[in-house]
Amino acid sequence: MTVRVILLFLLALLALRAVGRFMGGLSQSARGDAPRARAGDTPVKMAKDPVCGTFVVPGKALSATSGDGTVWFCSEQCRDAFVRRG
Ligand SMILES: [Zn+2]
Repeated sequence: MTVRVILLFLLALLALRAVGRFMGGLSQSARGDAPRARAGDTPVKMAKDPVCGTFVVPGKALSATSGDGTVWFCSEQCRDAFVRRG
């Protein structure tokens, strides 16, 4: 009788632990970082091509200097159009 109670107690303890781990995992994923903020997806501030509206990565795209600073373009065509426009 007593052994059975102890066994039941141990089983209940294990079950509680499992539930606790499960709940912990849930709350962890709930408050965890948003999927888009994963490491590797470096949050790059994108620049908008003012001609066609495409978002480009500054430093990798074509650039031109305007009164507002440096402007980035997806292609030479867009840059030319921007420069010609003034
Ligand atoms: Zn463009």
